[in-house]
Amino acid sequence: MTDKTQQATFADLGLIPTLVERLEELEYSQPTPIQSHTIPDVLNGRDIVGGANTGSGKTAAFALPILQKVVQQAASNSRRGNFVSHLILVPTRELASQVAYSVKSYSYHLKDKVKTVAVFGGVSVNPQMLALRGGSDIIVATPGRLLDLVSSNAIKLNQVKTLVLDEADRMLSLGFTDELNKILELLPEKKQTLLFSATFPEKVTTLAQHLLNDPVEVQLQSAEASTLVQRVFSVNKGEKTAVLAHLIKQHQWRQTLIFVNAKNACNHLAQKLSKRGITAEVFHGDKGQGARTRVLDGFKSGEIQVLIATDIAARGLDIEKLPVVINFDLPRSPADYMHRIGRSGRAGEVGLGLSLIDYDDYHHFKVIEKKNKFKLDREQVEGFEVEDDQNEAYFMPMKPRAKPAGTGKKKKKRN
Ligand code: AMP
Repeated sequence: MTDKTQQATFADLGLIPTLVERLEELEYSQPTPIQSHTIPDVLNGRDIVGGANTGSGKTAAFALPILQKVVQQAASNSRRGNFVSHLILVPTRELASQVAYSVKSYSYHLKDKVKTVAVFGGVSVNPQMLALRGGSDIIVATPGRLLDLVSSNAIKLNQVKTLVLDEADRMLSLGFTDELNKILELLPEKKQTLLFSATFPEKVTTLAQHLLNDPVEVQLQSAEASTLVQRVFSVNKGEKTAVLAHLIKQHQWRQTLIFVNAKNACNHLAQKLSKRGITAEVFHGDKGQGARTRVLDGFKSGEIQVLIATDIAARGLDIEKLPVVINFDLPRSPADYMHRIGRSGRAGEVGLGLSLIDYDDYHHFKVIEKKNKFKLDREQVEGFEVEDDQNEAYFMPMKPRAKPAGTGKKKKKRN
């Protein structure tokens, strides 16, 4: 861990005035911790392995020094053929367009000097092929589409100087290992590698070891977690929708992101909320790109207040200062729990990560707590108190799915 203080300004970190000026326009008053801990080392050519969530400001942490390199090395970089100098790999198309958007925004005053292209699947390949002609300085890509473009000779990776793996843990959990390995084989041996990951499962650690050369390690999770309040509410089986509707109406959050575990569960929950007078939109993998963009824009602008999403669709969503994220269904993996709640309380804002758990979830939530090393008090919602035979405090099952006698039979469903 380096000892740079958080009080440093962007200029202190070694950024050129054009970039500093742009950050002032964007009202970035001071660097976030991940930015102050990594920008000077990235500028110095060091490899980085950074523990940082979406929302910590990590896009700027790698994008700003890369932009500076593009400008300072303009003579040797001169774009040509289908080569690319700096490659940023991300797990989803949403994140690809979001990161490319940020890079373009940071380079607003360098428009003539920097060419950034986003390549991702789910949309026509032709405009991307056209955009790649004549070479690019920076490419933000999802692995599958990048490999398609390599095999059709639309892009060459053997001149890459910087490789960024953004959200490396998600990339690997989404099963990109083979694609990632194919890409790594196409890259030159000598390059600077920046790896960012919210969590460090074994696969990421292994990747880090064979990919990085004497990296600077920056681990900031605990500081970031302090901007996030986590709460867990115990509810009776069959009452989650009623409790959810009650909380939404009670708190009137500006935006609420609700996670469920399946696409049809999104639609089902939206219908049930609608019967309770709450309009919600859904966001999942079956939606076309146009519909996804429209829903996301509506949610960002505040037009849509309640969004129900699955993990796959919501990875990497950048929605500024999301006040609350609710786990209606618990995520299967403890790492996904951290990713989900990391959507709130972004860049220093206090956010709320809230989970609704019923009898069937108690065991799994304990596992999530244990793996992520936290422990929360079980709360109850007034008017929806948990019955004794479903209360974790009175009855903790030995097996996760075993039901206590009578559960769910006598009880009238409220949703
Ligand atoms: P990221 O982690 O890169 O997805 O960034 C999360 C959000 O924080 C984005 O909306 C950025 O525009 C914003 N952001 C990044 N760095 C700063 C900063 N130094 N000051 C204020 N906002 C920032």
